[in-house]
Amino acid sequence: MRVFKFGGASVKDAAGVINILSVLKHTGFSETLIVVSAMGKTTNALEEVVKNYFDETPRYLEYLEKIKQNHYQIIAELFQQDSAQTKENINQLFEEIIIFLNNNKTKDYSLIYDQVVSLGELVSTTIISNYITSQGIKNRWLDARKCIKTDSYYRDANLDWEATQKSILKAADGNSTLISQGFIGSDSEGLTTTLGREGSDYSAAIFAYALDAESVTIWKDVPGVLNADPRVFKDTQLLRQISYREAIELAYYGASVIHPKTLQPLQRKEIPLFVKSFENPADDGTSVSKGKTLEPLVPCFILKKKSNPFETLLLRFFFYCGRKY
Ligand code: ADP
Ligand code: ASP
Ligand code: MG
Repeated sequence: MRVFKFGGASVKDAAGVINILSVLKHTGFSETLIVVSAMGKTTNALEEVVKNYFDETPRYLEYLEKIKQNHYQIIAELFQQDSAQTKENINQLFEEIIIFLNNNKTKDYSLIYDQVVSLGELVSTTIISNYITSQGIKNRWLDARKCIKTDSYYRDANLDWEATQKSILKAADGNSTLISQGFIGSDSEGLTTTLGREGSDYSAAIFAYALDAESVTIWKDVPGVLNADPRVFKDTQLLRQISYREAIELAYYGASVIHPKTLQPLQRKEIPLFVKSFENPADDGTSVSKGKTLEPLVPCFILKKKSNPFETLLLRFFFYCGRKY
């Protein structure tokens, strides 16, 4: 099994979803589990719903309706005349959250947050699974809440590895192309939990670990892991290969291209990680695997911004010497 992960940037609109199909046609899609995040900035919009729910004059229904309409727009572009079924599926997911919010008695912000914010991933994967089916690719939509088992530490839940492994193996058995959600899981009460913002990369690593996957590919809007964030630095260079340890250091010090928890499960089972461009799937991108060290040998930069501008810190890594400057 291979694991692919597509993040919010790759599925921000209908063109992004269509592009997933062309990536899959390029790479092949059998024996592949595809983990997908919420579309574009949906998670931020859902966070606003939760904040508003606690307001004195809540307008969360309006907020939710706007998010639903944005998804309907994407569905209309993808399915044209055949959009009714997918719209109905999405409407059902929104209705479940509305019923939950209308009947909810708890004031536990984090618990409510996870029930609401997880909607983004459920909706995006439903649209993508239906779309790919409509284009002739047989696939199964897999509910990550039935697979990723966690404690009840809402918004940053901790994994129960044993239960997760069992559930994933059971759920994936006999399926060739699976589409599941990043970021979300469930606790022993059956309530939805989340793994922390940007946690979908970590979900991909969890699935890969449980399935003993041959590789994980994270598809990004950049050519791979660069020696600095291209939004901040000019003339960045692509790191063609990098060790697990170097990737862990970059992620932990704040290179937001990979979620920090992603590398360790992969390193434990020596599962290679590829970071590749979803715009140019034929390009090699970056590979992180056993026995590989940094290539090319260039310093890597991370800008850490604090609220106080005088505290802005430039971290420079120079892996060749194993030292940080
Ligand atoms: P996703 O769509 O998977 O959530 P992200 O937006 O979280 O993707 O991550 C991709 C972004 O990470 C890039 O657009 C880039 O600006 C940023 N980034 C930060 N550091 C790096 C780095 N060292 N190499 C590549 N991209 C980086
Ligand atoms: N959708 C979630 C977020 O925006 C998880 C992810 O994208 O990785 O944080
Ligand atoms: Mg992201």
